[in-house]
Amino acid sequence: MTDTNPISQASLKKLREFKLSGIIRTLEVRLTEANNQGLSHREFLELLLEDEVNQRSDNKRKRLYGGAHLPFEKGLEDFDFTFQPSIKKTEMMELATLNFIVKHENIIFIGQPGTGKTHLSVALGLKALGCGYTVSFTSVADMITTLEQSRADLSYQKKIQQYVKPDLLILDELGYKSMAESTVEDFFEIVSRRYEKGPIIITSNRDFQEWGKIFIDKTLTGAILDRLVHHCHIINIKGESYRVSHRNQKT
Ligand code: ADP
Ligand code: MG
Repeated sequence: MTDTNPISQASLKKLREFKLSGIIRTLEVRLTEANNQGLSHREFLELLLEDEVNQRSDNKRKRLYGGAHLPFEKGLEDFDFTFQPSIKKTEMMELATLNFIVKHENIIFIGQPGTGKTHLSVALGLKALGCGYTVSFTSVADMITTLEQSRADLSYQKKIQQYVKPDLLILDELGYKSMAESTVEDFFEIVSRRYEKGPIIITSNRDFQEWGKIFIDKTLTGAILDRLVHHCHIINIKGESYRVSHRNQKT
């Protein structure tokens, strides 16, 4: 099928209207290829369709990964379990099967700074993204600020969806600051709307006994903890900071 005429503007316009950006991107190359290699009409069409499929899955992947807002990309394979023996590798590997997402179970990592809580949460987040789940990572402080601001500009209901909707929500660094009353209510709202529907991973440097100090209100603390720990994997990391240890080794 030899045809060396360029693609008409009208055809390009139609392709754009149909949002076939994968085909638009490769069309010239495929036409040349078809001419030079004498591709059949069927082969030519199949190549173009394949280009469109690839473009779409690439776009989807970018949207998924970009929307997760992970602070870095590190997996379980980058984690040195021998350094942190209080974390059972078998337990982490079990969590990495993502059964906890299917069963709507939460995970809470508790440990001192630098012990790998964020790293492990990110690793599970990456696994989830790899399986096509939507993930949202945020520090608790950022979530609080976002929700406080949203009350002022009346986008509260929309913003709260941002934390309710994803298949997996990762809340990093709970407990660095005590929360104001309205903030605790926001936190409760998210936890209760996700309860038995959408799993949450939480990292905290505070033991459970101290969570009362974070949420202040006793009744709400009870209500939050009740829902969070009902179906939950609690990983207590008892070890030293990887950062400090590796800085010491270097100096
Ligand atoms: P935390 O969230 O508990 O404060 P992080 O997960 O941020 O700690 O870990 C601090 C840094 O040390 C990160 O760069 C992380 O990748 C690294 N790190 C922590 N623990 C380990 C480990 N056991 N093996 C490899 N890297 C680790
Ligand atoms: Mg951290």
